[in-house]
Amino acid sequence: MATYSESELILPSLYMLDLAGGFIKTADLIVSLETRLLPTGSDARIISGRSDTYFSQKVRNLVSHRTLDHLGLAEYIAEQNGLKITPKGKSHLVANQLTIDYLMENNFSWGDVKPVFIALAKPNTNLDIFKEIFEGDTGAIKETKVYRRSKALRDAAIDTFLANYGTLSCHVCAFNYEEKYGAIGKGFIEIHHKRPIYMYEGADQVRTIEEAIENLAPVCANCHRIIHRTRPPYTLEYVSEIYQGIRALST
Ligand SMILES: [Zn+2]
Ligand SMILES: [Zn+2]
Repeated sequence: MATYSESELILPSLYMLDLAGGFIKTADLIVSLETRLLPTGSDARIISGRSDTYFSQKVRNLVSHRTLDHLGLAEYIAEQNGLKITPKGKSHLVANQLTIDYLMENNFSWGDVKPVFIALAKPNTNLDIFKEIFEGDTGAIKETKVYRRSKALRDAAIDTFLANYGTLSCHVCAFNYEEKYGAIGKGFIEIHHKRPIYMYEGADQVRTIEEAIENLAPVCANCHRIIHRTRPPYTLEYVSEIYQGIRALST
């Protein structure tokens, strides 16, 4: 169930506005937010006597209350009934780009990302996230703090999985890269994030790693694609049951 408050829509709106190239009409903003956030429950209901849902009304309010204008993030252009990003809005997105991309692209449940979206709508919030897929040790962004922390976390998770299972195999289908590809597959696996992993400035590293181990799962590239084929993603358990033929695939 996902229902949204107006303030929770600030950051996703800014993100969509930027994706649209810096200007977006209110009607298009509604469609893109609906597509990405999948409002359900009361948000999906049509307001009686109108063609609007409660969700689209919230987006209209966000625009007409000039909420993003007041934060300096965007400017309402009345003649075109749309929002235009400001330099401040753009730099706010750039400063938090890795985090926002991580939250928007991994199809996490809204409940899990909501606190961060609210926190990030305020300026000067320090928050690091951990990437899902690594390009090995020579990743192009390895110089960034986020990458270093992500890598430390991934290494800790892999060590734990190795200690627990003795091998680094897909948790869905048991595919093992070293077994199939020999030396060039050694140590390769993708890490699926069941829930987003955050590290706030000054947060306890040990706790973060424990939390991460619970919320991360090694999967092969094939199973990972299937897990992310829907939004929100299928659960690991569901895909495993399908894979093992316990449950018939239903749409
Ligand atoms: Zn697999
Ligand atoms: Zn994943």
